[in-house]
Amino acid sequence: MKVEFYEDPEDIKRNIKTCEGRHVQQIAYSSYHDAFTQICFGCDVVRTSMKEEDVNQKDCVVGRGR
Ligand SMILES: [Zn+2]
Repeated sequence: MKVEFYEDPEDIKRNIKTCEGRHVQQIAYSSYHDAFTQICFGCDVVRTSMKEEDVNQKDCVVGRGR
């Protein structure tokens, strides 16, 4: 699944409307980033208005085992 980055959250909303009723999709809203993320299984694309550097942060502490 590829990731597309959009500057404007309105662009994400437009894509959500386009896929609505045609594709299985999940929408996530990040209040921290004030950004929308659309995961569309029909398009096989993740569209987000988060910044690329925010998405690519690798310092996740969840699930870090011994
Ligand atoms: Zn779609």
